[in-house]
Amino acid sequence: MQWGRCTVQPKASTAGRALPRHPAQTAGGRLWLYAVGDVNGRVLLTHMGKYQAKVAADHILGRDVAIAAPVPRVIFTDPQVAAVGLTEAQATEQGMDVRAVSVPTGSVAAASIHGDDFVGTSQLVVDAAREVVVGATFTGPGVSELLHSATVAIVGEVPLATLRHAVPSFPTLSEAWLNLLEATQHTDDSFLCDGKEMTDCGSS
Ligand SMILES: Cc1cc2nc3c(=O)[nH]c(=O)nc-3n(C[C@H](O)[C@H](O)[C@H](O)COP(=O)(O)OP(=O)(O)OC[C@H]3O[C@@H](n4cnc5c(N)ncnc54)[C@H](O)[C@@H]3O)c2cc1C
Repeated sequence: MQWGRCTVQPKASTAGRALPRHPAQTAGGRLWLYAVGDVNGRVLLTHMGKYQAKVAADHILGRDVAIAAPVPRVIFTDPQVAAVGLTEAQATEQGMDVRAVSVPTGSVAAASIHGDDFVGTSQLVVDAAREVVVGATFTGPGVSELLHSATVAIVGEVPLATLRHAVPSFPTLSEAWLNLLEATQHTDDSFLCDGKEMTDCGSS
């Protein structure tokens, strides 16, 4: 591969592993090449390339580097789809004992700002052993702005009991968190009744 004036010939075994967890993973224990962004084939998203660049800079400067950041991802459709962390299936595959709770995103006052036909669902995947969020998905108009709160909760491994003290402003879509956290306290795994919106079931 020609990069500017340099010719780079990555070995097949190291391709896509341009940000090793530990220098010992490289030949001779010494890093000399860092590949960040799409070129390493890990996550083809702008924000993850920028994050990888910071991780690489930290590594070059000898700082401790942990590469376990969950990947926030948004599909900018109408309605939007925004997700971060593990899905229920992925968490189960990893051997976690998880429960998923879901609520209608539009069961908050702010939804009316977006019109009468707000459609969408919000879901949290909770690690039952640690009582922390390991994944979140939001669908609905404008839900991409909800995503970072879930990313912070996952990265910070904030216990659900603590998250309940993170009070969202009224009237914002973030109030979906109130319903989600309340749902985690229910024995059934969803606030949806027979797949219908909560308001259809006589509660709001
Ligand atoms: C249509 C589309 C929509 C997208 N939407 C989103 C989005 O909404 N959100 C999101 O996070 N990501 C999005 N992405 C992905 C995002 O664009 C990429 O993940 C991001 O641009 C990767 O950045 P990068 O710096 O790694 O690579 P690039 O931005 O591709 O930059 C690589 C640079 O290297 C240069 N180059 C290539 N070969 C050589 C060479 N031999 N020598 C010297 N220079 C070279 C190229 O000209 C280019 O300037 C989208 C991608 C596409 C195609």
